[in-house]
Amino acid sequence: MIGWVLKKILGTQNQREVRRLTPMVAEINRHEEALRPISMEELRAKTAAFRERLSKGETLDQLLPEAFAVVKNCCRRFTEEKRKIRVRGQEILWEMIPFDVQLIGGMVLHSGRIAEMATGEGKTLVATLPTYLNALSGKGVHVVTVNDYLAARDAEWMGEVYRELGLTVGCLQHGQSQAERRAQYACDITYGTCSEFGFDYLRDNGMATTPEDQVQRGHFYAIIDEVDSILIDEARTPLIISGPVTVSTHQFDKYRSSIESLVRKQNGLCTDWANQAKEKVEKGDLQGAGRLLFKVKMGSPRNKLLLKFQEDPGTRRAIDDAELEMYQDTRRTELYKTKEEMYFSIDERNSEADLSEMGRTFLNPADPNFFLVPDLITKNHDIETNSSLSAEEKLKAKQAAQADYEEASQRIHNISQLLRAYCVFEKDVHYVVQENKVVIVDEYTGRLMPGRRWSDGLHQAVEAKEGVQIDRETQTLATITIQNYFRLYEKLAGMTGTAETEANEFKDIYRLGVVVIPTNRNCIRKDADDLIFKTRREKLNALIEEIKKRHAAGQPMLVGTASVESSEIISRMLRRENIPHSVLNAKQHQLEAEIVARAGERGAVMIATNMAGRGTDIKLSPGVAELGGLHVVGTERHESRRIDRQLRGRCARQGDPGSSQFFISFEDDLMRNFGDSRRIAGLMTKLGMEDNEGLQHPWLNRSVETAQKRVEQRNYQIRKHTLQYDDVMNQQRTVIYAWRTDILNSTDPRPEVFETVDERISAEVEARAGTDPVDLDGLVHWANSSMPVGLQKEDFQKAGGKEEWAKLLKAKVREAYEVKVRFENPEAVKALERFVLLGAIDRLWQEHLYAMDGLRTSINLRAYGQKDPLIEYKNEAFSMFGELMGRIKEEVVHNLFRSASSLSAFESFLSALPQRTGRGELPVQARPVETEGSMSMGAGPSSAVEEALAPIKRQGPKLGRNDACPLDPKKKFKNCCGATGSKVCFKVSA
Ligand code: ADP
Ligand code: MG
Repeated sequence: MIGWVLKKILGTQNQREVRRLTPMVAEINRHEEALRPISMEELRAKTAAFRERLSKGETLDQLLPEAFAVVKNCCRRFTEEKRKIRVRGQEILWEMIPFDVQLIGGMVLHSGRIAEMATGEGKTLVATLPTYLNALSGKGVHVVTVNDYLAARDAEWMGEVYRELGLTVGCLQHGQSQAERRAQYACDITYGTCSEFGFDYLRDNGMATTPEDQVQRGHFYAIIDEVDSILIDEARTPLIISGPVTVSTHQFDKYRSSIESLVRKQNGLCTDWANQAKEKVEKGDLQGAGRLLFKVKMGSPRNKLLLKFQEDPGTRRAIDDAELEMYQDTRRTELYKTKEEMYFSIDERNSEADLSEMGRTFLNPADPNFFLVPDLITKNHDIETNSSLSAEEKLKAKQAAQADYEEASQRIHNISQLLRAYCVFEKDVHYVVQENKVVIVDEYTGRLMPGRRWSDGLHQAVEAKEGVQIDRETQTLATITIQNYFRLYEKLAGMTGTAETEANEFKDIYRLGVVVIPTNRNCIRKDADDLIFKTRREKLNALIEEIKKRHAAGQPMLVGTASVESSEIISRMLRRENIPHSVLNAKQHQLEAEIVARAGERGAVMIATNMAGRGTDIKLSPGVAELGGLHVVGTERHESRRIDRQLRGRCARQGDPGSSQFFISFEDDLMRNFGDSRRIAGLMTKLGMEDNEGLQHPWLNRSVETAQKRVEQRNYQIRKHTLQYDDVMNQQRTVIYAWRTDILNSTDPRPEVFETVDERISAEVEARAGTDPVDLDGLVHWANSSMPVGLQKEDFQKAGGKEEWAKLLKAKVREAYEVKVRFENPEAVKALERFVLLGAIDRLWQEHLYAMDGLRTSINLRAYGQKDPLIEYKNEAFSMFGELMGRIKEEVVHNLFRSASSLSAFESFLSALPQRTGRGELPVQARPVETEGSMSMGAGPSSAVEEALAPIKRQGPKLGRNDACPLDPKKKFKNCCGATGSKVCFKVSA
């Protein structure tokens, strides 16, 4: 009911929006008509004229009708002259002039929103309108595509329009050199994939050492094609540039064999329970069986007998009942007791593994506590209140306790990852072993992801399990989430066939509204109800029969699968039936695009995973429309309804006939993990389902969709979670990157050097003067060991109080530095100064990222201590950042004098810097993010902080030294919090 009302409102709002834009369409068309008589040169001259008008203060909005008309008119000329364009090696005849709905789509994109336009409506062309308009600004428009092939295709194809009108077009491709990339970004318009854009940003800001090394030139406007797949599906995987770690902490080799026997023990236990359950089922005691099977589910979720019982609606329901019962709050103790009856428990949904007392004893009979995290808080308290210890002894004891704690956490983490590797991750489902390597199978596209690694040691745990070489752990050198990368843009827009179901997320996270654009012609696709089967085998058999039937009649079919594995199973079955077909796994984009383009030919059968051939138009060949057009079969409902809609949308484009249907079974992962099997089983009994026969009913569709909504919700939480954590990092990253960019671009870095040194001096003087008694000896020692100032205790005593001490030191440092650089080449000195700053920032920032990774992992453990992990994370991250800033300054002071400034010393200094490698040499990779099932959702920053931050967020990080601190207006921004060397107060990131 509420949904219906909402739809009504949304529907009309959407219609109103479309209606609001319609008058503009007429205006564009009027302008376009006026352009018809002029010459091509005159049309091209419009570009320069528009730019001239912009420089005189006209806005892009004002130019829109005329600029869109110019693009449309250009398309008309191409069509009339039958222009042929070479696109990816093939001649394409240009025969498109934007329809009115496409003009509306273009306006929506220009306004910084998402245009939902069905597949085949010509989004590629739509994008040219706002792209041309916004490129007039000269600030660079980025068009983001899902793969390199599409980037190149669109840059060549649509590029014809831009080039004709006098704009330049670039295209990013994997493997381009730095110089090539710069050239692409220098163009008015740049096409590329989101990872190319994102990694360039990371390299520009985390690794470039001169402004010339940076390739991007700002983030003005981006249009994202297939925006849902990029901002939603890919958003669970942050972009990460990593290199090998310096110290490795893994102990997988050491524990592997004991975990193997532990898992064997546990499997024995679970098989016994499953057999007992079987007896109970035979005796009619379903409840008892359910309880036992639930235990099996916790102990060994992939137990064969269990999986079999889960296929049967009756026993499945009993298991669900037992689970539901156990998870009630009043039964918690019982749940814990149950967990103690096995060696460890696994939560498949949340991918977690926990050792029990029994498991700990098995692994280390002499000391079960060896695998327990020590209670640090109590320990610290005991040390603090122990009056027999001196202050120094207390400190030592606390450090020892901390070390113990870290060691134990590491150990437990290793064990937990190994358990997951053995019990949750299955070979040939989640990964394959190829050439002695563990290769991840992407859960979303089903394709192999060589080079990608699970983070947090999981990948190594799986390598240990498979007995292949355990690759070195890698460490993060630079990272950003897709979300935060795209938030850099002043204006963002997107287009896709399927955005509506995720409209909320677009709104919440990206502040992107969604406007559904009507189709040019009515869509006449027929979507049949799902066909539900008890088992996968029955489902596949029925599917093959269906394909045989339609194939015999000559109707082309597109069979969508959720994984490479099931593509291959279906392909094998079809081969047995001698049905010719093609299999696409989104591995070779160009080749697959060419194959998919032929999916509309008579009798074609194409098996494709979700992303395969996306973005390629499927045209029907003659005679096929009479057969009903392309028929799409889904062999599994995907986790998200949106992806099912995408699959369906591949047929019936531009008013063509077409139809679709999904085949599903209770053994599908979606149904196993999230299906409301009780309801469905009830429905099935009511509807009288027999064995071996598929069942079809609108009620069943709804039940499946409920399961999907549940997963969508969960995945949304995971993405939001990733973002909440990355937000903390994001603020820190903004500070560091802004600081870095300032240094990189400054013509004279010396003031920045001394500012940093001064801050370090002030902090040290403050600290030494703050003790009772004042630690003047310490200060003298620090000063002389860090800088060649040659000051005695008496010099300070003569000078006066702490203010004078700081002054004295600052003056002496300058004096000493002057002496050092007096005879050097000034340019070399500048470069040296820049390197001193950047070297310190980069080295310590990377170390900081590593520590933050660790914090992120260990914070999970604290969830057991009843604390909100996100808040803990924020607090700790904040204090770590404070320390980082202090250490950077210390290092600057140190390196400024340690590295003698003569040129030869400068060179050796350079070679001592952390190895800087360019693109391609670093293992560039992205990793799947771990699910954080055990974390409670923390409250975000308080609203007061949010409010204080709002102006900064709007203006970007540009507060000056004399501005008021946004958090404490009584104080000057630079002095409110011990000042950072950067242009942004880091307190803001708390
Ligand atoms: P989408 O990305 O929306 O799925 P595409 O951009 O791939 O759609 O375009 C689908 C097909 O429609 C292409 O073959 C394209 O040439 C054609 N097309 C797009 N716009 C027009 C138009 N205005 N007139 C005629 N054909 C068009
Ligand atoms: Mg497209």
